[in-house]
Amino acid sequence: MMELEKLRILGEASQYDLCNYVSLNKENFTSKNLPGIYQARTSSGCQVPLFKVLMSNHCTNDCNYCINHCYNSFHRVEFTPEELISLFLHYYQNHFAEGLFLSSGMPGDADVAMEKMIEVARKLRLEYEYQGYIHLKIIPGSSYDMIKRAMSLADRVSVNMESATSSGFGELTSTKDYHNDVLRRMKWIGRLKKRHPQMAPSGQSTQLIVGANEETDQDILKRAEWLCKHLNINLSYLSPFEPLKDTPLKNHDKPADNRTPRLYQAQFLLNSYGFSPDELVFDDDGFLILEDDPKMLWAKSHPDLFPVEVNEAGFKELIRVPGIGKISARKIIEARRKGIKFTKYDDLKKLGVVVKRAEPFIQLDRAHQTTLQF
Ligand code: SF4
Repeated sequence: MMELEKLRILGEASQYDLCNYVSLNKENFTSKNLPGIYQARTSSGCQVPLFKVLMSNHCTNDCNYCINHCYNSFHRVEFTPEELISLFLHYYQNHFAEGLFLSSGMPGDADVAMEKMIEVARKLRLEYEYQGYIHLKIIPGSSYDMIKRAMSLADRVSVNMESATSSGFGELTSTKDYHNDVLRRMKWIGRLKKRHPQMAPSGQSTQLIVGANEETDQDILKRAEWLCKHLNINLSYLSPFEPLKDTPLKNHDKPADNRTPRLYQAQFLLNSYGFSPDELVFDDDGFLILEDDPKMLWAKSHPDLFPVEVNEAGFKELIRVPGIGKISARKIIEARRKGIKFTKYDDLKKLGVVVKRAEPFIQLDRAHQTTLQF
């Protein structure tokens, strides 16, 4: 088979994996002209073209959301390390790609798949002296030695958790073990990273699928908080479930369009704003209320804590006000240190506060107190 045809198949097959930079905008996610090139977004907001591809779509696992599941009878293809390196270097040298994100199906033995991906990274680093970005997917069940070798070559590694709970994972696959193949490997990566900080300098990441099983938002957010606390993963990538033809879940409903964005907002509250999962507002079934953002809902359910006096409140109090983020809270405190007193909403607007959202929850120099009205 021609390399280009392999590239089309294996490049397209990698598109559902968000486990890298934030890539939420699906319209910008893939380039129609260049197979395997995806516009990823860095944490600073820049768009970066990555060559994102599978080494192989051979797989003996039965993940029921994935087109590569073992019961699907279609043409299986695989790159040799040399083929993949030559394609990547072509893209890189012509400035079509600025980095490589390499994943693979698992044809029987996780280490066999890992060995081939590691060979690509090893040759790029040592033979072609490529210094740019490499993200290597760690195949669930890989050995400690393979993980260590991958981490010594890659900027970032990731194991896809897919599910927040062991029972949810069991709804998606019967051939992988959540605790042993996934969680244990992620803990190894965390431990290796602590011992050897120079390995995988961008750390590890993971992806959870939203809406493919019975898991609630509460389950997902508890897991995201656990990942942040125990494995230093500040942002778990959340991929809204997509029913694909030729998969057992082809007739399964998609999650509501705003479920994943609300989960991201809630995750930021947990991992960056000091909220705990128990503080968030869920419905009786453990799902976020989608009509409003989680911080606004929390604030509305705590009228006893508001309004907050902007001229006196501490950083932690300020960042709990809807419309005040960490940057504007810091600017408010900095301005107060210089003796500035806030008496007008316009002064807050200049510091980035979204006054329309904050207004019901703040007072300015007491005299400007507003009445809480929702
Ligand atoms: S391990 Fe599962 S998700 Fe990964 S390629 Fe195989 S079937 Fe697809």
